[in-house]
Amino acid sequence: MICQACGVEAPTKKVTFYQNIGALVMRFSKTADGRMCKRCIHSTFWKFTLTNLTLGWWGAISMIVTPVYTINNVVRYLMCLGMECVPAGAAEPQLTDDVVARLQPVTQQLFDRLNGGEDFERVADSVALNAGVTKGQVALYAHALLMASQDDAAST
Ligand SMILES: [Zn+2]
Repeated sequence: MICQACGVEAPTKKVTFYQNIGALVMRFSKTADGRMCKRCIHSTFWKFTLTNLTLGWWGAISMIVTPVYTINNVVRYLMCLGMECVPAGAAEPQLTDDVVARLQPVTQQLFDRLNGGEDFERVADSVALNAGVTKGQVALYAHALLMASQDDAAST
């Protein structure tokens, strides 16, 4: 599985954390939602929780919302404590020239299967195996191509 926050290949869990900043008559809230690795869950939880505890309270609605957010965050975090850690040596996938060269011949196949509605994890798994790269690199590659094609569409 690939962490949607940092891209590392590690066990992930679907989480939603909420942050609230009260500014008397206004308030600013932020949500972190997605499948994350334990490392990102840990850092997001502490960042959001410390913000809630210090800046969360300043306002009528904030005084109600912040405890609810904080309880949600703590419960979600506790549920993740039993998760497997990010494997030692796991790194964010990198797109090197070598990886791109390996993936180029299977690009058409990759997009045909994705357009055919196949599950991304499954397609990435088999394409990665065929091309001799990692699944995270396939995801990164697909994402880069998608971004590039959107840029093309915007500039023409
Ligand atoms: Zn992560």
